[in-house]
Amino acid sequence: MNKKSRRHKPQGWIKVAKERIEILFSEARKQASKKPKRANRYVKMARKIGMRYNVRIPRKYRREFCHKCDSYLLPGKNCTVRTNAKTKCVEYICGECKAINRYGYKKEQKK
Ligand SMILES: [Zn+2]
Repeated sequence: MNKKSRRHKPQGWIKVAKERIEILFSEARKQASKKPKRANRYVKMARKIGMRYNVRIPRKYRREFCHKCDSYLLPGKNCTVRTNAKTKCVEYICGECKAINRYGYKKEQKK
């Protein structure tokens, strides 16, 4: 009982936060082509939850939004995807704010 402190977030909350992030991103995915604005809102909400509970966005979703403006990125629609051999990165260029989101592919190459 007295282990409870204000800083400590019970595990249960974190689990719920993770679930919510999952749901929000899967919804964003569904809405992205029809209602991009709604998808962006879902991304924002998911990121807020992540920040509050110190939960990271799951890997599978990390590349699907702009880290600068929180837009949901749909390759071919509002984002350009290219690889950069020099930096060994895949670059996702956000069509909304032109930010370049880089994701290394070194690890995948090791295999
Ligand atoms: Zn952006």
